[in-house]
Amino acid sequence: MKKLIGPFKQVVTLENLPVKGAISDEQLVIRENAGVLVSNDIIEAIGDFDQLVKTCDQVERIEEDCVLLPGFVDAHTHICFGGSRARDYAMRVAGKPYLEIARAGGGILDSVRKTREASLDTLVASATQRASRHLAEGVTTCEVKSGYGLSVEAELKMLEAIKKVNDTHAIDIVATCLAAHMRAPEYDDSTAYLNDVLAKLLPEVKSRKLANRVDIFVEDTAFSVEEGRHYLNKAKALGFDITIHADQFSTGGSALACEVGAISADHLEASTDQEVALFAKADTVAVVLPGVTFGLGMDYAPARKLLDQGACVAIATDWNPGSAPMGDLLMQAAVLGAVEKLTTAETFAGMTFRAAKALNLHDRGQLVAGQLADLAGFATSDYREILYHQGKLKPHKVWKRGKLV
Ligand SMILES: [Zn+2]
Repeated sequence: MKKLIGPFKQVVTLENLPVKGAISDEQLVIRENAGVLVSNDIIEAIGDFDQLVKTCDQVERIEEDCVLLPGFVDAHTHICFGGSRARDYAMRVAGKPYLEIARAGGGILDSVRKTREASLDTLVASATQRASRHLAEGVTTCEVKSGYGLSVEAELKMLEAIKKVNDTHAIDIVATCLAAHMRAPEYDDSTAYLNDVLAKLLPEVKSRKLANRVDIFVEDTAFSVEEGRHYLNKAKALGFDITIHADQFSTGGSALACEVGAISADHLEASTDQEVALFAKADTVAVVLPGVTFGLGMDYAPARKLLDQGACVAIATDWNPGSAPMGDLLMQAAVLGAVEKLTTAETFAGMTFRAAKALNLHDRGQLVAGQLADLAGFATSDYREILYHQGKLKPHKVWKRGKLV
C-alpha cells in the first residue's frame, strides 16, 4: 500500500551527513514543498509534492505549515521501574549528602526494592505511560534497560515487562540487560555476583530473546574496569552487543568501551582530553546525557570537544527515577546545544541517525528512501524554530512506520 504524506514546508532529511565529527548547518539538506512517499512502513521517495501527487492515489494531506524531521531515537533510558524517588530528589536539591539519603531508605536500592515488589502488570502499565509520552514528543525508538531487579527472577521480570511494552505499543523498544547496574544487596562480592549473572541470567535472556544488548556500570561505586572487561568479553562471546555506563564520576569506563569494541559508551561527564581522543579513533558512539546534568546539578559531558576531535556523539535522556526524572529529549538536547555550542545539524544528528548507531540500528534516523517512515512533524515553517523554543515546540504530528499515531 502506497501513500503520499505532505506537502511539508520543509523536510530536514539529514542525508549525506558524516557519522562522526563536527557538522555545519550549511551541510543540512532542506527540501521545500516536499512529500514523503511511504510504501508499507518504509520511505520509498522524498521529492517535490506536486510531482509526487500525480503518481499516487492515496494522499494524507497536511493543511498547515509543517517542518518534518526523522523520528527521534532515545538511546539510553531506564523507564521500567517501580516507585518514585521524589523524596531523594528533595533531599538532594536541599544539599543532603548521598549517604544521608541512603540511610533514609533512598538511593538506587529504593528503586530495586520497589521494582522487585511491583507486579509484571504494574511495570508494564507505568512503562507504557512513559513510552506513550515519549512517542507523543517525537521519540519513535526508545532503548530501555533492566537493572532494578538485580536477581535472576527480578531482572527477567523487568525484561519481560519491557518486551510486553514493545509487543503492544507503536513505539519501537530496544531492550538492554543492565543486571550489572550495581552489586545485588544479597552479595558481598562483586565478582561472585557478575559470575552468577553470566552463568544464570544471560543465557536465559539470550534463549528467551529478551535483549540483545548488555550494559555495565563501570565506576568506583559499582564495578571496576577489570570486572567490566571480564564481564563484557564473556557477554560478547554469548553474542550480545555491549555498552557501558562510563566516566560518570571517574574515568576508566570509556577507555574500556573503546578497547572491547562496545557499541556505545554513555555518560562521559568526567571524560578528559585523553578519553575524548580515544573516541576519535574508535567506532564506539559517545552518548551524552544532559538530563543527568540537570538532575544532579553536575557538569555536562564535553560534547563540543568530542565532535571537534571526530567522535560520533549521540544525545539521550537517561530517563530514570533517580538522577534524570524529566525524560524530555528535545528540551535536553536543545539546552545542551546552547551550553556546549552545537550546531543545529549536530543536535539533530545526535537525536536521530547517530543515536540509532548507538543502538546498532541502521534503518532509521534519516529521511531517505529505504529508511523506516518514522516522522516527527512540527507546526512551523522554519526548522530553526524547533531548537529556538528549547523543547517547548513539540511535534504536533508523529508517524511511526508511516502511520499517524
Ligand atoms: Zn543510565
